[in-house]
Amino acid sequence: MTTIQLPGLIDVHTHLRVPGGEHKEDFATGTAAALAGGVTMLLGMPNTSPPLSTPDVMQATHQQAQANTRCDLGLFAGASPEDIDQLPALAPHAVALKIYLNDTFGPLRVDDVPTLMACFETWPREKMIAMHAEKQSVAVGIGLAAAYNRPVHFCHISRKQEIELIAQAKTKGLPVTCEVAPHHLFLNEEDAKRLGPLGDMRPLLGTPEDVEALWAHINTTVDCIATDHAPHTLEEKASDSPPPGIVGLETSLPLMLTAMYNGRLSLDRLIQLMHTNPRRIFNLPEQPDTHVEVDMTPTTIQNKNLFTKVGWTPFDGTKVAGQVKRVILRGQTVFQDGKLLAQPGSGTVIPKSSI
Ligand SMILES: [Zn+2]
Repeated sequence: MTTIQLPGLIDVHTHLRVPGGEHKEDFATGTAAALAGGVTMLLGMPNTSPPLSTPDVMQATHQQAQANTRCDLGLFAGASPEDIDQLPALAPHAVALKIYLNDTFGPLRVDDVPTLMACFETWPREKMIAMHAEKQSVAVGIGLAAAYNRPVHFCHISRKQEIELIAQAKTKGLPVTCEVAPHHLFLNEEDAKRLGPLGDMRPLLGTPEDVEALWAHINTTVDCIATDHAPHTLEEKASDSPPPGIVGLETSLPLMLTAMYNGRLSLDRLIQLMHTNPRRIFNLPEQPDTHVEVDMTPTTIQNKNLFTKVGWTPFDGTKVAGQVKRVILRGQTVFQDGKLLAQPGSGTVIPKSSI
């Protein structure tokens, strides 16, 4: 058995569904899935119900997170035209701001220039602005980064023209970064046909050319691997209007280990994409005495082994090159040999000062 040691992984794009979607996931189950996937710190998305766009909802969610999280986590504030004057009051409780330029699950959406300008003018400069931007919206984000001379992070980039646009912006020295989700690297539109609603998410799965372009930039333009863990129940997926989104916390590392095994990237690069860059880009605190031990024995992803509340993944039955054996967070073994050892509330919510 070959064992590899990694630093605690950081996932900057997770939907934990609190408040309002607790039948899909909650802080205790979502962070159990995180630890099972080697993720010791994550950032929670704000498109909850109600969304994390007012200080009251933000503070209450922060407290719920602190009572229930098993790993370390921070929350995104959500930009919304109605609550835009609340941004300065939201900022102390949030790690970063999320702006949705394109449609996705939930009500948060920004498509007017005054709201975009307010985000860039009133959100603290030391905290990141992240965008859900597809197609030409990527150009809007790059333009705002240039106009305001401040960093912008692009979530789940999935198309050839988008990654090439970001590569072009980087060659001009613009302060932009981006993440790619494993499902956009390992699945394409043919899989979407096969999987039906279980292969439906935003952005949609791309063409084989899109997938190849993302791999072509994996060692250069791509800054982070992020899961976009977005749980929905099988009942919801079987309904007449299935919501978009799939889980990813427990499959992200096994899939990327497989890519490493197949020579797509080095171990050093995997650590950059899943730990070093996420931490630097979002200015996240160090986790002392924290690491992940990986067993590089081939295995198969199975729904029955998942800790996420919804209990399914489109990667059920997929062969992978390795899996998490043990996770140590601040000196404590929190996950070992398929068993979860961390109690709810044992993780830390950042920034600490906001409670
Ligand atoms: Zn998302």
